[in-house]
Amino acid sequence: MKAVYYEEHGDVDVLEYGDQPDPEIERDECLIEVKAGGLNHLDVWTRRGMPSPGEFPHIPGSDAAGVVSEVGEGVSRFEAGDRVAVAPGTSCGECEFCRDGDYSLCERYALIGEHMGGVHSELAAVPEDNLVSVPEHVDFVTAASAPLVFQTAWRMLVTRAEVDQGDRVLVLGASGGVGHAALQIAVNAGAEVWATASSEEKLDYAAELGADHLIDYEAEDFADVVYEDTDGRGVDVVVDHVGEATWDSSIKAAAKGGTIVTCGATSGPMPETNLSRVFWKQLNILGSTMGTPGEMDDVLAKVWDGTFESRIRAVLPMSETARAHEMLQDREGFGSVVVVPDSVYEEGEYAEYDG
Ligand code: ZN
Repeated sequence: MKAVYYEEHGDVDVLEYGDQPDPEIERDECLIEVKAGGLNHLDVWTRRGMPSPGEFPHIPGSDAAGVVSEVGEGVSRFEAGDRVAVAPGTSCGECEFCRDGDYSLCERYALIGEHMGGVHSELAAVPEDNLVSVPEHVDFVTAASAPLVFQTAWRMLVTRAEVDQGDRVLVLGASGGVGHAALQIAVNAGAEVWATASSEEKLDYAAELGADHLIDYEAEDFADVVYEDTDGRGVDVVVDHVGEATWDSSIKAAAKGGTIVTCGATSGPMPETNLSRVFWKQLNILGSTMGTPGEMDDVLAKVWDGTFESRIRAVLPMSETARAHEMLQDREGFGSVVVVPDSVYEEGEYAEYDG
């Protein structure tokens, strides 16, 4: 099969697209003919060698969708021909957290594409537990782009921060994958939403998705804008996946008793924290990562029925994965970048996703 792979960590030029051995399925796995693979910032971190070293050659990719072509003898929920998407989190099923159903807290939690081989390839062997059904009316590009970011954002806002009707919510980087999912989930919950982005075009898109207040973070300090808009009160929930570049302002922007929820640190993981603000304002600082199968089902149902839009920035052939990684690194455009096996890409029509 053809696959994206690399033999060492490094810059985008380590990415290759070429022949790799066909995967063989275990008892509990399905063989997937991949039709599309979604990219996440995680793919960039993993390629650079952070946080965990892997085995080489490494096939990247945590998000994908396609068709089941073969099932292991222990598989009961799927059969050949089923349309599926990959849910990338794997857990042991035995530790105290798994016993409680809190799978993303699993002591051995690992991600397809990060801690083990990924799915940006023509074929992928994926455990049955890591597959979700995709209805006929949902195209593979959409199905491949949604799972990781929507699951992550859903757990952050709904399960962890418990965003509710009337809450004031600030979503940073609202044009990225997690950001645009978080924005829509907050709007859907009935919150009043502030969205930050770096250009007018991206802010127009945030407005289309329902943001009430738009902040160009390159032109204005978002904490100052929030302070003015709320008469000095601040927002109930700040959704921060940026890290060092935004953390101090996130703490300023939170209301007394407010919550900051973080799922990542694309600008760096070591910000300074003014603790006097944290205790005086009695802030809740919550971490969140990925989600449970139930959270995945809940949020994908709303992607499949059109409540949430999984915005596509670009669709590229897998042989141009280096370019796809660059688009993520350089924060060009908004929404997800999707790669398609070259053999599939040649037959498909992807012009509608340009933009
Ligand atoms: Zn476990």
